[in-house]
Amino acid sequence: VSTNAVVAAIKEAGAAGAALRICGRSHWLAAGRPVNAEQTLSLDADSGVVSYVPGDLTLTVRAGTSLAEIDQVTSEHDQWLPLDPYGSSEGTIGATMATASAGPLATSFGLPRDLLLGLEFVNGRGDVVRAGGKVVKNVAGFDLSRLLTGSWGTLGVITEVTLRLYSRPKVDRTFAVTLDAGDEEVTKLLHVIAASPLVPFAFELLSRSPARTLGIANTPVCLIRLGGNAPVVDVQLKALSQIAKTREVEHSVWGELRELDRDAESVIRISTLPSRFLATSARMLADAPAQVSICISPGRGVMRLVAHANGERDGADTGVAASSFELPSDGGDSSATIIFEKLPADVWPVVAPSVVADPLSRGIKQAYDPLNILNPGILGD
Ligand SMILES: Cc1cc2nc3c(=O)[nH]c(=O)nc-3n(C[C@H](O)[C@H](O)[C@H](O)COP(=O)(O)OP(=O)(O)OC[C@H]3O[C@@H](n4cnc5c(N)ncnc54)[C@H](O)[C@@H]3O)c2cc1C
Repeated sequence: VSTNAVVAAIKEAGAAGAALRICGRSHWLAAGRPVNAEQTLSLDADSGVVSYVPGDLTLTVRAGTSLAEIDQVTSEHDQWLPLDPYGSSEGTIGATMATASAGPLATSFGLPRDLLLGLEFVNGRGDVVRAGGKVVKNVAGFDLSRLLTGSWGTLGVITEVTLRLYSRPKVDRTFAVTLDAGDEEVTKLLHVIAASPLVPFAFELLSRSPARTLGIANTPVCLIRLGGNAPVVDVQLKALSQIAKTREVEHSVWGELRELDRDAESVIRISTLPSRFLATSARMLADAPAQVSICISPGRGVMRLVAHANGERDGADTGVAASSFELPSDGGDSSATIIFEKLPADVWPVVAPSVVADPLSRGIKQAYDPLNILNPGILGD
């Protein structure tokens, strides 16, 4: 596979009026609304490094390169791409950018779009477009690469990605704080942690079910990842120990957490002001039913809610329930955004109207994919 082959496949599909299902490694195709396509265009085989400039902390790879491959290449220069989306490192960077998938490290390093310097894609007309650049300070004016990030393959097929890397931390340790006190005490503790000088790589709150599956605790738990050089981590650890009773856990817990919900039926993301999560997390974590996993990133104001099929239609119920979801009130701003990532096919029309219903989104789709041949249906178009 090459950019030219992608151009040829798209032009051929356009001429035949046949829609294309875009794929990387095909691990997350059940996410998004069902796609109505006759053919598959896989980027899986289009992998490898195009250029790597360790001195500039920049890496350009083909879209089919997996996160595991990127990790291996960058580790040779003591660098890394701090991107840990849910799922596994076997996923491709093209799919990660197309779905804007993020994980716990986003607390400190930002979202996929923040690690993306530029990309190449082929739109639905078969035009090759280069957006952004290959150097860290290059972005001027409207950045098309950010438009493609999270567009779920509906505006173009990503063929190449340029990424901003970081130095690999010398020390990277993870600590668990058990949240087994009453709501009020847990809320107080979370406020104290948030207001402390700690700058954790990741700060996640897990409900009882994932904490138990990961073998960390039988109660909700807080996971804090501290990284950097030894003095920086030592100072932070000392500060943390003064606030809470901590227990060090294996670093592998993060990989296990990402892979935990492999068979989830519904995945829903809810975001609101970080302060609202600090005020209401204790109650939500304690109240989470056993078949629902809750993972809250209070620093980002994001909650991931996962429901497993359990004989009956738990996933569907969760989807419908989430569409009318209201965070417990903390007396402040009550707005929350709900993003449905994965739902049973028949639940989509009930809970989530099209995301391309407004004139601006429709105009952009029309400009980039006038024949509607790229992943049609996935955004409700
Ligand atoms: C068990 C599991 C749980 C996950 N949970 C979450 C989650 O909660 N939140 C989340 O955001 N992500 C989640 N993901 C997705 C994950 O983080 C990555 O996005 C995924 O692993 C990418 O792998 P893939 O190559 O198999 O993607 P695929 O399954 O092949 O593709 C995923 C999507 O990206 C599109 N796509 C793929 N390649 C391209 C390309 N080159 N250009 C344009 N579009 C493309 C596809 O059309 C498809 O819609 C999960 C994945 C797994 C396996």
